[in-house]
Amino acid sequence: MSDKSFLVDLTRCIGCRGCQIACKQWKKLPGEETKNTGSHQNPPDFSFITLRTVRYSEQVTDGKLRWFFTPDQCRHCIDPPCKAATNDPLSVFHDPETGAVVYNERTAKEPYQTMRAACPYNVPRQNAKTKVVAKCDMCNDRVHAGMLPACVKACPTGTMNFGDRDAMLKLAAERLAEAKKEFPRAQLVDAETVRVIFLAADDPKLYAKNLLADASSVPPRGPREYTRQELFAALAKPVRNILE
Ligand code: SF4
Ligand code: SF4
Ligand code: SF4
Repeated sequence: MSDKSFLVDLTRCIGCRGCQIACKQWKKLPGEETKNTGSHQNPPDFSFITLRTVRYSEQVTDGKLRWFFTPDQCRHCIDPPCKAATNDPLSVFHDPETGAVVYNERTAKEPYQTMRAACPYNVPRQNAKTKVVAKCDMCNDRVHAGMLPACVKACPTGTMNFGDRDAMLKLAAERLAEAKKEFPRAQLVDAETVRVIFLAADDPKLYAKNLLADASSVPPRGPREYTRQELFAALAKPVRNILE
C-alpha cells in the first residue's frame, strides 16, 4: 500500500457537518453537551471524544460578509512533531504504509502538555480520567481494508478527497488552477509537510486559527524566514532537547 493523503477543497465546503457526524458514528463516540455561544460551530473545539469539528469563521472580504468553513482534523504530518515529543516509541504509531499517525493507550504515560504544544495545529486532546490522548487516526482500519475514511465517504460536495499521495498532489494542483479562476487568492496550505492538504479560497488566516501551522514557538533566526519544512524541524527540536 502506498503513502496516502487527503485533499480538503475548502472552496466546496458548505459547513454541513456530515463529516463530523460520520467520524462520531464510525468511532462510536458520544455527542457532547454544549451550549449556545453565539456561533453555529458545535462542538466548539476538539476533545477526547471529538476528533473532528467543523470550524466557522465569519469575515468581510471585498465588502461582503462571508463564511469560511474549516473541517478540522489531525494533519498526519510527514515528520510528526507530536511523536517527537513522546518518550515511548510505541505510544504513537507512524504507519509506514499509509503515513497515518496513530495514538494508543500508551499515550497516558506521555507528557501530554509537551505533545500538545509540539503540535503546530493544536490537535491532541487528553481524557481527564484515563490520561490517554486522542486524535484522528486517518480511519487507518478502514484504509487498510480498502475503504475511504468515514469523513471522506460522507462528504456530499467533493470537499473531502483521499487517495495515494501522488494522486492527491496532482488533484490539488488541478483544483487550485480551477479555483484561482473564481478565487484569485486561492492557495494550498502546508502541502509539503502534511498529509491533510487544504485548498483555501482566500488567505488561510481568514479561516480557523490553526489552519496554518502555528510558528509562534519557533525562535527568530535572522533575516530569512523559515520554509515550512524547516518550521516543522524547528518545532520538534525544542521538544527533543527537553527529552535528551
Ligand atoms: Fe501530530 Fe499534530 Fe501533526 Fe497530527 S497535526 S500528526 S497531532 S503534530
Ligand atoms: Fe474522523 Fe476518520 Fe475522518 Fe479522522 S479520518 S476525522 S478519525 S472520520
Ligand atoms: Fe459538509 Fe463536506 Fe464540508 Fe464536512 S467537508 S462540512 S461533509 S461539505
